[in-house]
Amino acid sequence: MPLVDLPIRDIPVRDARLHDVVLLDPPQKPKREDVPADKVLCEFCTAKCCRYFALPIDTPETREEFEYIRWFLLHDHATVFTEDGDWYVCVHTVCKHLQDDHRCGIYETRPQICREYTTKECEYEDDWVYDQYFETAEQVEEYMDAVLGPDGDRIGDGRRKKNRKKSIRGRKPPLLPVISS
Ligand code: SF4
Ligand code: SF4
Repeated sequence: MPLVDLPIRDIPVRDARLHDVVLLDPPQKPKREDVPADKVLCEFCTAKCCRYFALPIDTPETREEFEYIRWFLLHDHATVFTEDGDWYVCVHTVCKHLQDDHRCGIYETRPQICREYTTKECEYEDDWVYDQYFETAEQVEEYMDAVLGPDGDRIGDGRRKKNRKKSIRGRKPPLLPVISS
C-alpha cells in the first residue's frame, strides 16, 4: 500500500512503541513528495486535521439561508467555505485529546472518522486554499447582496433590473465618426 493511503493515526509513528517520544516541535517540514519512504507525513505535521471540524451545510439560495450563515460567523472560531460547489461550516477548535506532542491521546479508541481519514488529500501543505472562504459576517452580507441584489430574496433576483445597484460604469462613449476618403 502506498504511504499516502495509510489511514491517519494508523501509521507507525502513532504506534504504541513511539508513544513515549516527546516531539514538541516537529522536524523541519519537507515537501510531501520528499518524505522518505520509511517515514510518514504525520511525523512532520502539527496534526492540522485534529484542530478543526467541518460539516456540510445546504447551499444557501435565499436571504433567510444566508442569514443563517451570517449567524454562524458571528461566533468565534467559525468560518464557512465552499469546495466543488458544496458549502461547509468549519469550527477551528482543537480536539481535547490532541497531546502537546501532536499525537492522539486516545489512539486505541479514537473515533471511526479519525481511523478512516487518510494523508492522501489531507491539509499537510501550508498553501491549502478553498474555492470561497468567509471569515466574517460582513463578508457574507456583501456576498449576499451581490448575488441576491439589495432587495432580492433568492439567488437570481440580483439579475432583475429593480434589484441592481446603479452601475459603476460610465455611459458608453459615442461612436467615432467614420472617416471617408
Ligand atoms: S493533516 Fe495530514 S499529515 Fe497532518 S496529521 Fe493530519 S493526516 Fe497527518
Ligand atoms: S481523537 Fe485523536 S486522531 Fe481524532 S481528532 Fe482527536 S486527537 Fe485527532
